[in-house]
Amino acid sequence: MSKLRKPESMEECVYFTRRSIDGGEVTAWVFRQICPKCKKGLMGKPKDEDGNVKIRAKEYVCPKCGYSVEKKEYEESLIANIEYTCPHCKFKGEIQVPFKRKKIAGVDTLRFQCQKCGKNIDITRKLK
Ligand SMILES: [Zn+2]
Ligand SMILES: [Zn+2]
Repeated sequence: MSKLRKPESMEECVYFTRRSIDGGEVTAWVFRQICPKCKKGLMGKPKDEDGNVKIRAKEYVCPKCGYSVEKKEYEESLIANIEYTCPHCKFKGEIQVPFKRKKIAGVDTLRFQCQKCGKNIDITRKLK
């Protein structure tokens, strides 16, 4: 049984990924959070005039009051929810970790450890 709350749509998330890693599998998601200033809007990437999210924006903004926070600082305050099948020992687990990505071999990586075998599991930024 899953303890972690799952998103119902991508709209709820600032980050969502599902992928296979060397025979294992990982699903990770980060929920958008309520604006700390007005407590009304959901913080998200800014949108352009046509309503498209600016994926490469360097900040998050509140659509209600306009409060903005620098991207990296903001993301590191969030929690990543992860459901995984360990590629090393096949353990199926769930874990919550700070949404802090580090450069590993030059690629932004969200690294966590399997709760059973303790080995690293890396969720790297998808290369396009
Ligand atoms: Zn606000
Ligand atoms: Zn493991």
